[in-house]
Order: sequence, then C-alpha cells, then structure tokens
Amino acid sequence: MLGVEHTVIESVELEPDGRGGEQLVARVRPKAGVASRCARCGQRCPGYDTASEPRRWRGLDLGTTPVYLQATTQRVRCPEHGVVAAAVPWARAGSRFTTAFEDTAAWLVCHATLSVVAVLLRIAWRSVAAMVTRVVAERAGQTDRLAGLRRIGIDEISYRKGQRYLLVVVDHDTGRLVWAGKDRTAVTLRRFFDDLGVERAGQLTHISADGAEWIHAVVSERAPRAVLCLDAFHVVAWATKALDAVRRRLAAQLRAESQHEAAAELTNTRWALLKNPPNQSGAQRSTVAGIARTNKPLYTAYLLKEQLRAIFETKGRTGRALLAGWISWARRCRIPEFVTLAQTLTRYRTLILNTLDHALSNARVEATNTPLRLLTRRSYGFHSPESLIAMANLTRGGLCPPLPGRTA
Ligand SMILES: [Zn+2]
Repeated sequence: MLGVEHTVIESVELEPDGRGGEQLVARVRPKAGVASRCARCGQRCPGYDTASEPRRWRGLDLGTTPVYLQATTQRVRCPEHGVVAAAVPWARAGSRFTTAFEDTAAWLVCHATLSVVAVLLRIAWRSVAAMVTRVVAERAGQTDRLAGLRRIGIDEISYRKGQRYLLVVVDHDTGRLVWAGKDRTAVTLRRFFDDLGVERAGQLTHISADGAEWIHAVVSERAPRAVLCLDAFHVVAWATKALDAVRRRLAAQLRAESQHEAAAELTNTRWALLKNPPNQSGAQRSTVAGIARTNKPLYTAYLLKEQLRAIFETKGRTGRALLAGWISWARRCRIPEFVTLAQTLTRYRTLILNTLDHALSNARVEATNTPLRLLTRRSYGFHSPESLIAMANLTRGGLCPPLPGRTA
C-alpha cells in the first residue's frame, strides 16, 4: 500500500495533522541488504553517524489521508564521495517525497496541467519542478536518446517573454525531443554534437533548422554530409509575420486619415487572417471574404501567405515550380513586406529546395515544438532553464515514468 521496496515497516499510526485532520505515519527502515549505502553511488560504506531527529518523507495519500514515512537517517563515509547521507530505498537522494510519489507526480505532469497536479497532490510548483528534475535525471541515464538518429530538426524556443532561449533538437522520424540545452548559441549546438559524437553525427542524413546562419555554420562543420533544410514552419511564420505587418501598416494609414472605424475593423481581422483556412470559424471566413471585396492589398498578402503554406504541403517538383512562381509573384506584388520576403526566400532558395525535394515533414517536429512553446509560456514554476529543460525532456522526450504499481 505504501509503494515501497526493500523497506521494513515497523509501525503505522494515525496522528493529528495539526489542521483538524489526521495523517498516517509509517515508521520505516531500510532492509539490511540495502542499508548503509552511499546516496550518490550506491556503494556499501561504513557508517559515520546517525541523526538525532527522525526525518519524514511524503508518500502517496491513502484514500483521503496524507501519508508520511518516518525514519532515522544515517550518514556513511563513502571512499569516493566522503561523508554523505545514506541512501534510502523508498526515496531518491535529496528528496522529501517517496519515489512512488514523485513518479506519480511526473506521470501526472505529462497528462494534466501543472495547476491540476499541484492541487491534486497538495504540493507547490517548486516541488513539482524539483521532482521532475530528479525523475528525468534518473530516466535519462537509463536510455540513449541519441542512438540511431538520422533526420533531426534544430529549433529555438523562447521563454521568459522571449528574453531567453532553449535550443532543442527533435527527431523527425519519431517526433521526440532528443536533446535540449540553454541559450541559442553555436556553443550550445556544439555541445549537442559533442554529446552525439563524430560517428553518429556522420550518420545524420537531414538537418532542418530556421534561417540562423550560426546553425548552418555549426552543421556544416560537424555534420558536413547531412542535407540542410529550412524548416517549413519558419518560412510560413515569416509570411504570417509579413501579413500581420501589412495589416498593421494599412490600419495605421487609415488612422492617419482619421478613418477610425475602418482602422478598428481592420484590427479585428487579425485572427481571421492568421488562422489556416481549415481552422477558421464561419465568422472568420466571412471576414476574409469581406477583405477580398474591399481591401485588395491585404487580400493579396493573405493569398501570398496561404500559397506559401500550400507549397510546403505540395513539396517535390511541383512544389519547386510553385516556389519559383511565388517568388516572382511576391517580387511584383508592390507590397513592400512581401517584396522583402521574396528577397529572403531567394537568399535561402537552396535550403528551401532541399526541404521540398526531401519532403521533410514538419508535422512531427511541430507536434513536439508547439506544446513546448506553450509549456514555456505556462510553466510558472519552471523559471530556471535547467528545470524547464527537465520538464521538456519529461513531457516531450519520452521520459514519462510508468505509474507506480502498474505493470502495463
Ligand atoms: Zn559514493
């Protein structure tokens, strides 16, 4: 019932919890076979001393009742790590929660919002962050997520309102996050390639990324045989940004001409224009139809954005032909934002053609990156890059632990 192994339970008692309720306290000790081991390396060591006060660990609730495990802790003298706390079989080193509790919390974090997890388990954000970090450290050590990589996507994800960045590497074939590091720099990316090793870097066939030159530089230095592609997601995002800039410019123009009502109307079209047609609501569709009738430059900008998206869905030889057509259309469209975008796409033409030729689908990578972006916006308790990386690895890197006590 307590979800512990290699543990002797000496007594179980109910005691008042100090808030008018009761809590269950189990007095425990490690079984002889696992006692007196270094918490860091697991080696059996001579005992050093015993704490005068017993310590408590929070366990999983029994029904509605909070559960604590209580034990007298010991320190050991490890030949390698010096005087350290002895390991206990029911909890990870340094934790005030049982392993079963932490695994449950980590599993829940993968399947529910953090606020639900915090309320359900009666814990603080900060505790969740620390648990996730410990669970991920343990599970990451058990699997080699960099094995067998062939096609990867390198991306940057912002947090702290765009002030800081994580560099993430996603496997195109599984959609899993395989590596994450803090800061979007060449140094960070080189660390990924160091972790990957020369031999495995040589087996990479395709690498997709955004337009950042430093990514391209490191890739050609560390994985010269891989085909570098420009992520379709980023190219379409550039077009979406250009469209938004056109809308804002036109609205500002109207305001300057004191046409405030028309300007406000244009401001309200924002979401209708940015959404992909299959996701538009009926009202958003009629907004776009209205723009088609009344605002030719904005509608042209909208069509250019949509056409670019369609090119990446088409891919291949047809996609190449459509791209050439798109660039000449945008060049001549007299919408400055899109004339500039046409120049940008011309500059990246080779990389974009690689994307079209090799049909590198962005869907799986985006299925991972979109939740990651949401995560960085919502994770109030995960302000440090380390805990954010742990959280990303847990939820998107396949490191979610099984629920304790379940075999399937
Ligand atoms: Zn040790």
